[in-house]
Amino acid sequence: MIKPEAFTSRIGIIGGGASGSVLAACLLRRVGPDTEIVLIEKRKEIGRGLAFSTWDPNHLLNVRAGNMSAYADQPDHFYEWLQNHGPGHGIGCPTRFCFVPRGVYGEYLSGLLQDVPNSQQLRIIQDECVNVASAANGVSLQFASGDSLTVDHCVLATGNEQRPPLLTERGENPWAAGVLDRIENDATLLAIGTGLTMVDAVLSLYRRGHRGKIIAVSRRGLLPHTHQMVKAHKLDAADVPFGAPVSFLTRWVRQMAQTATKEGQDWRSTIDSLRPHTQELWKRMSLDQRSRFLRHARPWWNVVRHRMAPQIADLIENLIAEGRLRVVAAHIVDAKREGNKITASLFLRGEHKTETITVASILECTGLPDDPRYSANPAIVSLYAAGQIRSGPLAIGLDLDDRCAVIDADGSVSTRLFAIGPLTRGVFWESIALPDIRNQCASLAAVLADRLNTAKQELQVTN
Ligand SMILES: Cc1cc2nc3c(=O)[nH]c(=O)nc-3n(C[C@H](O)[C@H](O)[C@H](O)COP(=O)(O)OP(=O)(O)OC[C@H]3O[C@@H](n4cnc5c(N)ncnc54)[C@H](O)[C@@H]3O)c2cc1C
Repeated sequence: MIKPEAFTSRIGIIGGGASGSVLAACLLRRVGPDTEIVLIEKRKEIGRGLAFSTWDPNHLLNVRAGNMSAYADQPDHFYEWLQNHGPGHGIGCPTRFCFVPRGVYGEYLSGLLQDVPNSQQLRIIQDECVNVASAANGVSLQFASGDSLTVDHCVLATGNEQRPPLLTERGENPWAAGVLDRIENDATLLAIGTGLTMVDAVLSLYRRGHRGKIIAVSRRGLLPHTHQMVKAHKLDAADVPFGAPVSFLTRWVRQMAQTATKEGQDWRSTIDSLRPHTQELWKRMSLDQRSRFLRHARPWWNVVRHRMAPQIADLIENLIAEGRLRVVAAHIVDAKREGNKITASLFLRGEHKTETITVASILECTGLPDDPRYSANPAIVSLYAAGQIRSGPLAIGLDLDDRCAVIDADGSVSTRLFAIGPLTRGVFWESIALPDIRNQCASLAAVLADRLNTAKQELQVTN
């Protein structure tokens, strides 16, 4: 074990979920032997975070196994891991087009840092970072335990913010501890949201033996589409109309999908072919166009882009066919609690009429919050309070430059503080799923390794 004093530079990563772990692994492959990588995680296990800490076998990845490698330059890394670890877990993954439980993926990420080269340069601190402040020689971090540490560069990988329970008087957060366990098996429920969070909650309830009716409501009543094994289609950057208005882009994607269908392909190939270009499409949109996209196209994009595993779609379809799950396009006009019942009025889209329902509980399945300004995370709170970070354009994620360096309240780009993962989606849009996160981690690792090298060379010249 190398002593911390042996290192001349140090990179701190706050958050050891998927993003923090993959970044640590990428950094260990890039930085010189005199740099220490410090990964700070408050949970017991590294790599799991909110998404991959579930042990519900129905909570499957929504990305096929063949596209979930932690490393951009080793696309089969996860698939090969599955071949070596799968049978012991009772899971099979015969082809790259299979969808394994998210808990299994968490196990893969937990083990990632054990097999990585230069692991003697990694220090894991199991603690909560409660304060981040700029210091003369770097970034100073304080922990809940009372310890502190100064690092040369700090990366915020604090990830998916969980909505606080009882966000409104009416609804409960299905991810909060104990919420689903308290629901009676025959209870009628109202779910606000019809996306992947609702699907997760419905599957968890189903597994617990819930047999009551669930009414899932969103303004458009859109359910995520289903994955299918489709032929990959390559879209050349030269053929992408970067900078075009959202209305044009929507027509362009529709036409491509229609042509693909006529030629015997699947519309999913068209959507998937956009993946390498999505961040650039977003970046080249004006703020006004981004705002239009969020208002009009986001719900459609979410359901075609973030799809359900086929097995999950079958389960959901069965529940709908049995009348146990009803997906409704409506908005909630009112909800009143009387004793242990809630009476809610829904204004049904298209039918222009109100329907009144009585339910035992309301589950808020509206997904992850956009604006980190309202974060309860003390590390993020401390940075906002000191004006060292600000929210990104349209109040989604943090404001950053192209290299993931945060921008402070005065508009200055930090040379020491960076962010990755869901915190960066206002700037990159698609930075939540692993295929995007691993590219981001590889790029940021290169940027940080370069900075440390330059700093070292400057020091040598000065000396
Ligand atoms: C329910 C769900 C399902 C998903 N399914 C998929 C999928 O199938 N495929 C896919 O590619 N993507 C999926 N995603 C997207 C997913 O968000 C990302 O893939 C990834 O988990 C993001 O990782 P992260 O490390 O940035 O954030 P998180 O997973 O949220 O991890 C952040 C970590 O930081 C720690 N932390 C935060 N603040 C502090 C602090 N102050 N001090 C110390 N530790 C701290 C937290 O404890 C946590 O472990 C899913 C997301 C959700 C929410």
